[in-house]
Amino acid sequence: MAWHGARPSAALVATAFGMLVALVPSTLTPAHADATHGTGVALRSTVSTADLAAGSASTVAQTGAPRPAGVEPAAWTVLTPITAPELEPTAEPAPEPAPAPAPEPEPTPAAPAPDCAVLACVALTFDDGPGPYTGTLLNTLAAKGVKATFFVLGSRVAQFPDLAARTAAEGHALGSHAWSHQSLTSMPVEQAADEIDSTTVILIQTVGIGGPVLFRPPYGAFDEQVRLTLAERGQPVVLWDVDTEDWKNRDVGVTTHRAVAGASPGSIILMHDIHESTVAAVPGIIDHLQAAGYTLVTLPELLGPTEPGQVYRSR
Ligand SMILES: [Zn+2]
Repeated sequence: MAWHGARPSAALVATAFGMLVALVPSTLTPAHADATHGTGVALRSTVSTADLAAGSASTVAQTGAPRPAGVEPAAWTVLTPITAPELEPTAEPAPEPAPAPAPEPEPTPAAPAPDCAVLACVALTFDDGPGPYTGTLLNTLAAKGVKATFFVLGSRVAQFPDLAARTAAEGHALGSHAWSHQSLTSMPVEQAADEIDSTTVILIQTVGIGGPVLFRPPYGAFDEQVRLTLAERGQPVVLWDVDTEDWKNRDVGVTTHRAVAGASPGSIILMHDIHESTVAAVPGIIDHLQAAGYTLVTLPELLGPTEPGQVYRSR
């Protein structure tokens, strides 16, 4: 398996780091802000078939004329003329009642971000991609109208740039999972910094990520040096509180149970979109969580503004 793609050059790293620093003070401009949630309710007046029948019933009568031979009575009923009473002309025509303004179709507004201080929010997160099953997962999420967060590997983004771009374009949040999935605590600090920065660069290049880059260390492994390295770059450490262990069980039922049974308001659920069984479990996980009253959100929606170097395991 090729974890290593071509890394951005040191010059690009420096350039992008400058961009990142410039981006840090700005407020988050999440790509999900323009997402529409569900469908609006169309208000329209209706006329029932009963109304129509009542309005037309009194105008039909039979005449006394002899019916033509061979024609059944039902076929020669005719309308009886109704004489309208003559109205006195008035000097001034009565003002016509103003027609009720037709409701204008409202432009689809950007759906407001869910308020996780009020709602029972949980965030689905997918690590180690993009990969061969990511497209199927994106189809599922689109069909369900659910946004998620993807902690991608820089090497995988280099391999599947179109999937990374599609993920962002469809309103999901992307975070960094470093470049090669090696543990950052078992390498020199310069190398760890390169793992972090090269992934930041390719995220900026590929998906134009804005705001602080959420970072999830491979294996969840970090020490104080790694944390400070991230803090210098404005990046928070985002872990999880619900581990589906999907990489180990590779079982739709077990992964689903661990995700649903482990969730509580504010949870961050860990999964991996590089496993077919995980992608197959997601429709059921979404259905169960929504049936239990949870609102599924991205990490920027769940966490709100983040602090550089701060460690987050849930809301
Ligand atoms: Zn991972």
